[in-house]
Amino acid sequence: MSELPGKHGASSKANLQTIRHLALDMDGTIYKGGTLFDFTPTFLARLREMGIGYTFLTNNSSRSVADYVGHLRKMGIEAQAGEIYSSSLCTTDYLRRNLPQIHQLFVLGTPSLQREFAEAGFEILGPNEEPDAVVAGFDTGLAFERLCKAAWWIKRGKPFIATHPDRVCPTDQPTVLVDCGAVCACLTEATGVKPLVVLGKPDPAMLTGILVRHSLQPSQLAMVGDRLYTDMVMAHRAGALGILVLTGEATEKDVAACSERPDLVVPSLRELGELLAVAHGDKNDR
Ligand SMILES: [Mg+2]
Repeated sequence: MSELPGKHGASSKANLQTIRHLALDMDGTIYKGGTLFDFTPTFLARLREMGIGYTFLTNNSSRSVADYVGHLRKMGIEAQAGEIYSSSLCTTDYLRRNLPQIHQLFVLGTPSLQREFAEAGFEILGPNEEPDAVVAGFDTGLAFERLCKAAWWIKRGKPFIATHPDRVCPTDQPTVLVDCGAVCACLTEATGVKPLVVLGKPDPAMLTGILVRHSLQPSQLAMVGDRLYTDMVMAHRAGALGILVLTGEATEKDVAACSERPDLVVPSLRELGELLAVAHGDKNDR
């Protein structure tokens, strides 16, 4: 296990004592592909025992929070809706906070995504009604006519908002799943207009949303994930602790070559659970 000095040079153990909540990346962190890591249920139980909260994070805006509750349950994790934060929730939070004049939306997205926006209080318009803004998500049923109308409204000066930057969604099937970032690139190519904002990882608004929801200070939140350029970059941008697990994409070699190192690197959640127990046990002894 390697504990690397963080950007502030503070010791990781000291930082872990302040942690009250973990933002957990999913694929590569709590499971890989369709298989849950054997240590994940024990790790989550340990967090609950220590009174440390957690939120599962996802950039995938094609599925709703309810879809994710079902997805995690199938894998053996009993999650509550309030324990999941997606790029679509981040987008509705962002719109409410920063663009409160926007109520009517034209959304390129799945029925699940459109429903989430409607439940958040936005009016979802058809392609021929003039919206306040255009939102692009991961639209697995993307229709050419709707893509063209999105470009039309963007060209007419409507704010253009992207739920997340991913260009493709990983799959083990013989296809390329064209994701939100690639659809936005297409819209930008057609209109000359870039999105006003791109939410989802690595935008720190994903973590700001969790800080607000749970009334936390950045020093009380740790982002745990397997990617340096999304999970760890976002942690640092939000002022949260960045904890890298080596069960997914990034390797120790990648960490060594990285200019801004994570605050802590652990082989997996198993070792992180042990370090948290020590840090919080130490604190209770005082
Ligand atoms: Mg991941």
